[in-house]
Amino acid sequence: MEKLLMGPGPSNVDPRVLKAMSQPLVGHLDPDFLKIMDSTMECLRQIFKTKNRLTMPVSGTGSAGMEAACVNFIEPGDKVIVGVNGVFGARAADLMGRIGAEVTEIKEKWGSPIEIEKIVKAFSAAKGKIKALLLVHAETSTGVHQPLDEAGWIAREEGALFIVDTVTSLGGVDVRIDDWLIDVSYSGTQKCLSCPPGLSPFTANERAMDVLRKRKTKVPSWYFDFSMIEKYWGSERVYHHTAPISMIFGLHEGLKIILEEGLEKRFARHMENHVYLRDELEKMGIRFVVEPAYRLPNLNSVYVPAGIDEKKVRMRMLSEYNIEIGAGLGEFAGKVWRIGLMGHTSRKENVDTLINTLKKVMG
Ligand SMILES: *Cc1c(COP(=O)(O)O)cnc(C)c1O
Repeated sequence: MEKLLMGPGPSNVDPRVLKAMSQPLVGHLDPDFLKIMDSTMECLRQIFKTKNRLTMPVSGTGSAGMEAACVNFIEPGDKVIVGVNGVFGARAADLMGRIGAEVTEIKEKWGSPIEIEKIVKAFSAAKGKIKALLLVHAETSTGVHQPLDEAGWIAREEGALFIVDTVTSLGGVDVRIDDWLIDVSYSGTQKCLSCPPGLSPFTANERAMDVLRKRKTKVPSWYFDFSMIEKYWGSERVYHHTAPISMIFGLHEGLKIILEEGLEKRFARHMENHVYLRDELEKMGIRFVVEPAYRLPNLNSVYVPAGIDEKKVRMRMLSEYNIEIGAGLGEFAGKVWRIGLMGHTSRKENVDTLINTLKKVMG
């Protein structure tokens, strides 16, 4: 039974991706597979809008990419600043702390973006050099679209790395790694790239790779150590770990689909369907959590109307109509629904189906 996945991810997968994943296996050093690896890297560079040599999928889900970003470029005792206005900023701060970084959290109300003034203040209040600033571009727990065009300049001026979580933004809204001076970014396959979960597209520039080369301590994770991984994905082809071959077949096809559609067209489609959904929800008296200027088109957080049992509605949508929408997390639990319009799922007919069903189920 095919279900309509309109939650915070995974999103629906294009049948072409499923077909690509079911191809017979080849060896992970087979010249035919190496060609697919190279092509996957090239497609990812276009989608991340970067020239970075190290641009490849990390084996593991989005959180694996987050972990790789922290363990490779941060050492115990390093000072880092992390924007925390939802679950994923909090996860990044937790991860940084676990590897021994001294973390300054810039806290913001859930549903609001991190203010640029607070970033400037955090840098100037820091005693000693800040090693990195980490921000979440698309906070999936709240639906906030974090502006990124200024933060990179501040980090660069302060000599810090700028690390950005693009798990939910990549393929749904514009991501400009090079223009926005982002040094390191990790994403995920199951949100707006519309592939199954299991890989984390990753990019790091030479500035970041220099930081890795000059580390005083070994990268504490063997599995995520880019000084070895880059030799497998680079021209040396030194075995590190067996690439998840079928996953990469699927991702490669998914990336080709995105480039065939065209990035700007894809972003416009996400925006159009968001506007259509917003208008229909507002007609029903349903209100959005996030201010219009900071709303993600691909993740719509809305308040559950008073008197509605949110869980009952979600469960009936799923069991009777095969439509999945997301619950609120953390402080939004029980108060908010999260409606995803990501990648392949972002279509007008899906919005119609959702609205009609929601009307029926809410009665
Ligand atoms: C989903 C998500 C993650 C974690 O990805 P997993 O694939 O669940 O490990 C990290 N950051 C953001 C913003 C996400 O939406």
